[in-house]
Amino acid sequence: MPEPNEALPPGTFRVFGVPVRFHFTFLLIAFFLIFNGLSRESGAMVSALYVGGLFASVLAHELGHALTARRFGVPTLEIVMYPIGGVAKLGRSPEPKEEIWITAAGPLVNFVIAGVVLGFLFWQGKVGQAEAMAQLTMENLPLRLGGANLALGLFNLLPAFPMDGGRLLRAALALRMERPRATAIASQIGKGIALLMGIYAIASGSYGLVFIAIFVFLGANQENVAVQQRSLLQNVPVRSAMVTDYHTLPHGSTLKEAADLLLTTSQTEFPVVSGNSVVGLLSRNGLLQGLAAEGPDTYVAGVMQRDFRVLLPETDLGQLLADGQLNNETALVMEGDTLVGLLTPENLTEFLLVRQLGRPR
Ligand SMILES: [Zn+2]
Repeated sequence: MPEPNEALPPGTFRVFGVPVRFHFTFLLIAFFLIFNGLSRESGAMVSALYVGGLFASVLAHELGHALTARRFGVPTLEIVMYPIGGVAKLGRSPEPKEEIWITAAGPLVNFVIAGVVLGFLFWQGKVGQAEAMAQLTMENLPLRLGGANLALGLFNLLPAFPMDGGRLLRAALALRMERPRATAIASQIGKGIALLMGIYAIASGSYGLVFIAIFVFLGANQENVAVQQRSLLQNVPVRSAMVTDYHTLPHGSTLKEAADLLLTTSQTEFPVVSGNSVVGLLSRNGLLQGLAAEGPDTYVAGVMQRDFRVLLPETDLGQLLADGQLNNETALVMEGDTLVGLLTPENLTEFLLVRQLGRPR
């Protein structure tokens, strides 16, 4: 869990100690809804209140996840607010039993809000009187927000990733099988539901729903890919996926010599060495830019990166992936001061493919 005093990036704030950030598309939609309201009789004020109320409902939903996760000792890295909902990014994958509680807490918060608001309105006898539901007014604002919470809770229970229903389904399956397999099945069901939703949306001409169907389809796929990758890389050391047959450049080489190596090999990034120690990394882009700006007789030491990534050969790839440390950057694998390999994005992709295809069925 981040320290409460830790500096937050701009545009991020904290609720109950959890960092919350808006995705820029959320702001676009919020502005659109408010300006849309300006042109109607209902006015911008009530639109702004409605958008604010929706925002608070989505945030309360995500906090339901985050605060339940905290009870199980699972930290929330951040909550990101998207136009059609929020995402609470957890610091680790919860156990199936924990995941059921953490996931259920989100929709439950919406049902409680809906129950309180709609129950109160019903008690006041105001539910039947909202005749003009099409037009948002100050009078029907609470009813609209209560209804929106009911819809949010129900929509999120659809058994499709990245919706909570998909996670609940996966957690239920994971109680009796391995998590990767449970995810694969839940992901297939989610894609099926997204397809049905898309067909219905096109048939009925609801284009907003087409957008949501695409989002659900992609989300179902993404979650599956992420979980399968994690399982393929679990307990696999960096050493197993690194390139061990590579060329290095002495730091006194020229860009012309580096360019020759680039053309005659399939390597695109070259460790630059001085004696036995590595002093830098020359990337394809760095090489080309250097050639364009300074010409072929320049020394590689002048254009190489001096702050390259270093990994230990025994570091667990699954852990690196879980920590978001496996990016599209080449890393040098060093044992003490000795270079023993290169971990390149291309090789990692090939490694994943080979492992996936070679896995027993
Ligand atoms: Zn949720």
